[in-house]
Amino acid sequence: MIYADNAATTRMSDAAIQTMITLSGECYGNASSLYSIGQRAKEVLEQARADVAAVINAEPREITFTSGGSEADNQAIRSAAELGKLKGKKHIISSAFEHHAVLHTLSKLEREGFTVTLLPVHEDGLVRPEELAEAIREDTCLVTIMYANNEIGTIQPIRELGAICRERNVLFHTDAVQAIGHISVDVVRDNIDMLSASAHKFHGPKGTGFLYAKKGIRLTSLIEGGAQERGRRAGTENVPAIAATATALKEAAATLEEHAEATAKKRDRLIAGLSQIPHSALNGDAKKRLPSNVNFCFEGIEGESLLLLLDDRGIMASSGSACTSGSLDPSHVLLAIGRVHDVAHGSLRLSIGDDITDEEVDYLVKNVGEVVSYLRGFSPIWRDLTSGKKPFIL
Ligand SMILES: *Cc1c(COP(=O)(O)O)cnc(C)c1O
Repeated sequence: MIYADNAATTRMSDAAIQTMITLSGECYGNASSLYSIGQRAKEVLEQARADVAAVINAEPREITFTSGGSEADNQAIRSAAELGKLKGKKHIISSAFEHHAVLHTLSKLEREGFTVTLLPVHEDGLVRPEELAEAIREDTCLVTIMYANNEIGTIQPIRELGAICRERNVLFHTDAVQAIGHISVDVVRDNIDMLSASAHKFHGPKGTGFLYAKKGIRLTSLIEGGAQERGRRAGTENVPAIAATATALKEAAATLEEHAEATAKKRDRLIAGLSQIPHSALNGDAKKRLPSNVNFCFEGIEGESLLLLLDDRGIMASSGSACTSGSLDPSHVLLAIGRVHDVAHGSLRLSIGDDITDEEVDYLVKNVGEVVSYLRGFSPIWRDLTSGKKPFIL
């Protein structure tokens, strides 16, 4: 069995599981209570905040714990929009291949009178800094561009994009859910004002994440209630899950360089192997991508059938993103980088773990190759392509 869907979610690390189990039993106090077990929970919470902040070079008070990446994205964008509205600035810039947590929040704001510009993503899966510079207007209140894409893994020139925003005095948010714990992220170096992270993408628990907001940025609370998280998010804190988030992130940070390097080698072996399949193409730049991400299009097949047959062979992968699988629309990410519908339908994302072996990579290559030719054997589109009725695109 090979789990190659780490971009959808990761297995919790043993240390994170241990933290969560131990604290669930021992540290059940409410962090707002004044007696000792409450204060103990508060200490654990604040230690986790300090640990998480240190990994991204932030200050503890700049971290707000949330229910995950989606909530952090919603809160960052809502907060910037509220601040913009106060100054009469109602223009937001983003990119065409953001996660739906960002895109759907932006659509909602459009219905509330905001104007949104989506920067194009080029064939290499990257936005161009000069196109951002051109798109910024007098009334721009926010730029939100993801650190690394969840489907094709491409890593944006975040430091440059952030520098442009700084120079033009516009807030810069990045959805760093796929990047944190996998590649180096530093909010100071990268000129980031706000950043979203999710624990279950770096071997922490599901339903927990955090929002970094540079000090001085007033966050709008999405949930009304108590004064937890300094009034930025109501609700009793899930201390065991938050502590497990810190455990997982510290662990990931401690081994980040070596894991990234080793995983990138496996990724490149996988890319080289899959490139041998005729009429296939890698999606996104080969090098400016997450060490774990491989995403291909195979002409003449359906991604869904590919996934089912791979599952029969013990391979867990994805086609498009988990959230859009099940719908027949091709991935908005693949369309954004210029893949036509027919080609985008035949996509496969393999997001490997850092413990994958060369033998497992070779098993993936062999089985994907076999399943692709098998499916092409009875695909009407493939018949049209091979008989010359339709031209090959890839
Ligand atoms: C997974 C993911 C999210 C959503 O995070 P959740 O914690 O699952 O809500 C947001 N953005 C990106 C890029 C993601 O990969």
